[in-house]
Amino acid sequence: MVSVRHFALDSLLVACLLVAVVVGVSIPGSFLIGAFLERYPSSPPPRIASTVPDEDGWLLDRESEHFIYYTRPGQSIPDWAVELHEFTYSEVTKLFPVAGAAKIKYYRYRSQTDLQRAFGHPRKGYAYYTDGGSTVHSVYSCHPHEVIHAITYSLGRPPAFFEEGLAVAYDWRFALEEGEVHALAQGKLGRQGLFPLHSILTTRDFQAYDSLTAYVEAGSFVKYLIDTYGPDKMRSIFTLPRYGSTQEIEAAFQEIYGQSLSEMESEWRAFLRAWHPPERPSLERKLSLLLFSGSSLILVLVGGIALSSMANTALEKLTRVVAGFRC
Ligand SMILES: [Zn+2]
Repeated sequence: MVSVRHFALDSLLVACLLVAVVVGVSIPGSFLIGAFLERYPSSPPPRIASTVPDEDGWLLDRESEHFIYYTRPGQSIPDWAVELHEFTYSEVTKLFPVAGAAKIKYYRYRSQTDLQRAFGHPRKGYAYYTDGGSTVHSVYSCHPHEVIHAITYSLGRPPAFFEEGLAVAYDWRFALEEGEVHALAQGKLGRQGLFPLHSILTTRDFQAYDSLTAYVEAGSFVKYLIDTYGPDKMRSIFTLPRYGSTQEIEAAFQEIYGQSLSEMESEWRAFLRAWHPPERPSLERKLSLLLFSGSSLILVLVGGIALSSMANTALEKLTRVVAGFRC
């Protein structure tokens, strides 16, 4: 009888401890992991679709809040890509609201050959806009740059310098590391120099350069303008005609920003020269999270032990009553 009682009490104690450990580890653990992922949405880089024989036809793969995905038979869009697109959508529309926009149709091609067969050019992606909304065609499962174009088409088609600049500024590969695009532009400023802005201002000139330097430069300048002077002025820039001359764009810029493009360029170059990567709060934050989760674990464990101790006492009392013992 006594050994049965002990066994019952011991089992209860072990069960309580197990619950305490599981709860103690899972709650702070999931909080820690969730917070970390929120800070570092480090999704794997987009990968090029493998080159396999093409099969015609599109299948509706999945749908998210702002996107409808179509893939070739046998392919699908992974969760991380959907999440990153939604994240990009949310970041861009926070600055440039596009109320009532239709969902973006996203066609993921099997390979670059597959996409080239459809469009005739060896590109990785396209975005375009019709009355029915925006569409992205891409060889990647995840293509934030084209997605940003798809979002901003409803704002207008400004000179390519600004349109590409905005897409680079908020593309996760350049922007999510808190100013990475400025780091790239700063590096180019120090090494081979940047193009004078007036030389890449028109759509024709920008496309003639069509180089990483021109894209990074546009991205850094546009991000600087938005961060320093707000999104409304950039929204005005997006109403400019796509094929204006350098003089026309400079005049419109002067009117919108109240200073000339060359003055703004000097200001931005000074900013770039003095730019430092933002301090990463991660270490302190991680330490405080660690402290929090450690304390939580201890609290839950202590709580679990206290609870099991109380249950132990109660069970013992009950056992004594049932067995006819008196204290
Ligand atoms: Zn682009």
